[in-house]
Amino acid sequence: MTEMTDNTVNESGEKQKPRIATAALCGCFGCHMSFLDIDERILQLVELVEFDRSPITDIKEVGPCDIGLIEGGVANAENVEVLRDFRRHCKILVAVGACAVNGGVPAMRNQFELKECLVEAYINGIGVENPQIPDDPEIPLLLDKVHPVHEVVKIDYFLPGCPPSADTLWTFLNEILAGEEITFPYSLIHYD
Ligand code: SF4
Repeated sequence: MTEMTDNTVNESGEKQKPRIATAALCGCFGCHMSFLDIDERILQLVELVEFDRSPITDIKEVGPCDIGLIEGGVANAENVEVLRDFRRHCKILVAVGACAVNGGVPAMRNQFELKECLVEAYINGIGVENPQIPDDPEIPLLLDKVHPVHEVVKIDYFLPGCPPSADTLWTFLNEILAGEEITFPYSLIHYD
């Protein structure tokens, strides 16, 4: 189990709350939405933690954090950069959901060559007008294959599910924030 270290103390001598950052790589934001399904418990969570980069703050770059939660597979050069940045800044990094854990839905393209996917989407796709494969340098470069996050950086915990349920996320966060061993009941980790 990866330990959370003691929180630092601020200039006023108060204990600082653990900081959490979240990012969606190549995912559908369903895992983030599952987070919101903890409903009113989010008020308890806000009492326990500070949010760094995440969709609920306007912070664009991840800073030093205790826990980083990553949704989505690694499909392009920007995903690689964000993931490495999270690894550098987060003491504990968590793969959240099937796409992060094993590539999930975006990795379904792995059975084809990248060129084939682009041609199907932008040249031969139904309803395509002005067929042209986009090549604007502002668009992040696609990787040949979509990768689960652990193939790019070290991951400390894996939360499978598509998405992991709100109760799974809630249980995980409470246990890890309390410094306890993660002990999911069977009801939270079976998917049949
Ligand atoms: Fe969406 Fe499921 Fe992938 Fe989460 S695991 S990003 S819910 S497809």
